[in-house]
Amino acid sequence: MSYFSYKDIYIEDGRGVLEVNILPEKHCNFDCIFCPIGRSQNKVDTQKSFDKIDSSLIELGNIIENKKVELIFINSKGEALVHDKIRDIIDLIKSKRVPVRLLSNGYLLGRDEYIQIANKCDEIIGEIKSISEEDFQKIQRPIAGYTLKEYISNMVSFNKQYKGKFIFEITIIKGYNDDEESIHKIKNIIKEISPDKIIITRMEDEIFKKKLGIADERFKEISNALLSI
Ligand code: SF4
Repeated sequence: MSYFSYKDIYIEDGRGVLEVNILPEKHCNFDCIFCPIGRSQNKVDTQKSFDKIDSSLIELGNIIENKKVELIFINSKGEALVHDKIRDIIDLIKSKRVPVRLLSNGYLLGRDEYIQIANKCDEIIGEIKSISEEDFQKIQRPIAGYTLKEYISNMVSFNKQYKGKFIFEITIIKGYNDDEESIHKIKNIIKEISPDKIIITRMEDEIFKKKLGIADERFKEISNALLSI
């Protein structure tokens, strides 16, 4: 039985994109207060084995062959890099000559074993949601010992050696990183990481939107400021 799950194929920049979740339940090294998947019962940053994935790989291979898929986007319930078969999954997709995009929160991109895996992908998405050490611990509740400083430097060093497309996703959160000082700090981080593409987003989940969502006008202002650098 396959436990991968899929979204409907959609078109992005003229390419048919298939999003796949490879984790049976949430596994992440953070436990963000606004996580749309819920609490992290399994806060983890080392690889973990799940059920046999042979039938899941066969199903994924069949979908790629039978549908017009031009990019596979591994967007999982948490941090996909902790799946111990992530290499096999990427290798299967690449063997079908389809490019791979992988979403990571970005923290693990500083570790050798994960750098090698990420380097196999054509596109990597790294993220940032907090802009002070205090907020990082308070709202993203990472594994003990993690720091915002290390988080950013992990993405900076990763992208220095990465040959693919690094996409940097910044989430603007009301009351946490929407003031001028934060925007200035984010600009500096963008310069340090030097991504190929920047995505600015905000809280869209209905549950968190009311408290942490940012108004259209301010969001537009911040987006323009960040996208213009
Ligand atoms: S990094 Fe993403 S998946 Fe992990 S807890 Fe935070 S919002 Fe959820």
